[in-house]
Amino acid sequence: MLYKARSESVVLKTLRILNKRMKLTEDEQWYYLNQEKGFEGEVQFDLLTEKLQHNCLILNDLQLESNKSSFQLDSTLIFQETYSLFEVKNYEGEYVYDSEYFKTPGGKDIQNPLDQLKRSKLCLQQLLQSLGSKLTIEAYIVFINPHFTLYQTPPNLPLILPTQIDHFMEKLNQKPSQLNQSHTNLADKLVSLHQTVPPNIHLPTYTYENMKKGMTCLKCNSFSLFISGKKVICRKCGYEELVTLAVMRNVEEFRFLFPELKITTNMIHEWCVIVNSKKRISRVLGKNLKITGLGQWAFYE
Ligand SMILES: [Zn+2]
Repeated sequence: MLYKARSESVVLKTLRILNKRMKLTEDEQWYYLNQEKGFEGEVQFDLLTEKLQHNCLILNDLQLESNKSSFQLDSTLIFQETYSLFEVKNYEGEYVYDSEYFKTPGGKDIQNPLDQLKRSKLCLQQLLQSLGSKLTIEAYIVFINPHFTLYQTPPNLPLILPTQIDHFMEKLNQKPSQLNQSHTNLADKLVSLHQTVPPNIHLPTYTYENMKKGMTCLKCNSFSLFISGKKVICRKCGYEELVTLAVMRNVEEFRFLFPELKITTNMIHEWCVIVNSKKRISRVLGKNLKITGLGQWAFYE
């Protein structure tokens, strides 16, 4: 049973907007694409855990703290006797196992993710202990991408390769497990401890001034839009959206990037670019947000 769903992280959400509205450096671009790929892999794994019948509670994406150490868990399942923890990796291509690094013929080595898994497991163990839970932790790395191969993998490591996933999930599904109130209490507790904004997030520096202004298409992210009557139409893909909805969607981006800036008619008029009339902007804001103050000092919340 799904107990805590996954949503895009603050980092990924921000990077998605920044990628549209400013020029990311090569490193930032690489970081962004990795975040996107990681999220995609996690969502793929969610599709598999959601099929588990009724013997576990599913908690996705937990950001927790134990003994002042922060740790993040991609996917976790509470069973009667065990707490299963999964680190999901969406790596692609051919790698050779090494205790420190996974090596590729192309030379792009990646750190052996078992180190991270060990740390997460230890942190979770301490946290569960402090919460009085006696569940045994089983921790695994799942390589979700079917185009991933890892040569020379030693046996008996908690690594689940793409070809082993189906069988592994089948075994989980058949695991005898009777849940009671104590399991639900633990799940509630962990959800309450989850931090929506993780500490130490790394984001590119950005300012209002260096953002590209304009509304973007919901479907293809293009800035090439025009207004016709009540609709905003994309020149690139033809997608049509009501002006009201498009403006509010772009206001949300503005608010997400700049929570410290006030939402005013002038500001949003400048942000949206293609809506000529300030009156129209003001009407949309007035309909969807609460106005505070009067005249030129009015802003929306
Ligand atoms: Zn479009």
